[in-house]
Amino acid sequence: MNHEQSRALYDRALSVMPGGVNSSVRAVRPYPFFIESGDGGHVVDTDGNRYIDFVMGYGPLLLGHDLPESVQAAVQQYSAEGPMYGAPTEVEVELAEFVTRHVPSVEMVRFVNSGTEATVSAVRLARGYTGRDKIVVMQGGYHGAQESTLVEGEGDHTHPSSPGIPESFAEHTLTVPFNDPDAARKVFEEHGEDIAAVLTEPILGNYGIVHPVDGYHETLRELCDDHGSLLIFDEVITGFRVGGLQCAQGKFGIDPDITTFGKIVGGGFPVGAIGGKSEIIEQFTPAGDVFQSGTFSGHPVTMAAGLETLRYAAENDVYDHVNGLGERLRSGLQEILEDQAPEYTVVGTDSMFKVVFTREAPDTFDGHCDAGCQQRESCPRFESCPKNGHDITQAETERWERLFWPAMKDQGVFLTANQFESQFICDGHTDEDIDDALEAYKEAI
Ligand SMILES: *Cc1c(COP(=O)(O)O)cnc(C)c1O
Repeated sequence: MNHEQSRALYDRALSVMPGGVNSSVRAVRPYPFFIESGDGGHVVDTDGNRYIDFVMGYGPLLLGHDLPESVQAAVQQYSAEGPMYGAPTEVEVELAEFVTRHVPSVEMVRFVNSGTEATVSAVRLARGYTGRDKIVVMQGGYHGAQESTLVEGEGDHTHPSSPGIPESFAEHTLTVPFNDPDAARKVFEEHGEDIAAVLTEPILGNYGIVHPVDGYHETLRELCDDHGSLLIFDEVITGFRVGGLQCAQGKFGIDPDITTFGKIVGGGFPVGAIGGKSEIIEQFTPAGDVFQSGTFSGHPVTMAAGLETLRYAAENDVYDHVNGLGERLRSGLQEILEDQAPEYTVVGTDSMFKVVFTREAPDTFDGHCDAGCQQRESCPRFESCPKNGHDITQAETERWERLFWPAMKDQGVFLTANQFESQFICDGHTDEDIDDALEAYKEAI
């Protein structure tokens, strides 16, 4: 595989952009390949190499790179007609109506421009609504590049995880391990009166893919109710991916107070959203007092792309297709591991998947969850499968990143660049793509 053009571009990029990229995860070693174009479930780089794409923009592309006629037409129409105004448009009302109609807990929604902006605003809203400062987040959870959630440490011994964030931000953020109901109870026993909200992804999607154990979200819901705190589901990844149009909250039957969205809801354009009960969302200005604002928020092109993407998914068998391929891929991966690396773990659900290079597990898959770890207690691997962010860091993350990822790339399979980030199947993927991917895994593992 020749990468001369990409190498030359990265050389130029290093002179004018820090690390040569605009988002740190893209800086794969020794240098990233630069993309020229995408089609269906594939991308082509500037040197003409073609890859099956399981990165899918890190989540936003449900349909893949070939947008259906209706989405393309809407994007072109809205970019030709404006492209934006600083005044409301019908299409943002339509997308808000679509979201509130399909996502069980969401009665009202405010659109913003990124997932980060959504979680920043959601935390401010929860603090404003409750009059409390503390938030609880999961170790290994990710909520974007924001001050209140870039923390490390345990319980109330937290510190900023990046220079540039004052210690005083971390003081208000408490952390607990995902899937540990006792730790959550303990933090509420000690700080319940001061906790504005628990903020969690329904499935950890940026730190392996970790499914909740039975009853975990119910425990969080109960603790929040008992202490007058809000439950915020960060569905930036899982929204309109897991559980179809009802999102992960519908699939798990949990009723969060606030939900954050991003990624898919903008149909491939920059987006975020904060949804929830009207009583809470109406605390945002100008209806309420919690300041929230944005020049590009509700951008007509983004709204049109999001709306037509979701309409297309509602009217076609998109979720059946991507979830079916997901199941086939995860089952196939399990068979490969059983032969070649039984200590590794297949994770994921719906159209999300990953192989985590766990170090120890029973050498049989008998009685294992069928197509990826679902944290079933009766599974013989339950004790050894990763339950939280810490468990994922204990896996062979270096081997994954330095040997496995390049081996897959050389076979024309584009995976997210480290052990932690999820991978995605899109509507453009075919059975043949899954077969090809499985062959590549067989070689590389
Ligand atoms: C991607 C992501 C974010 C941040 O979204 P950006 O659009 O990258 O700012 C927040 N939360 C979760 C769960 C995400 O996966």
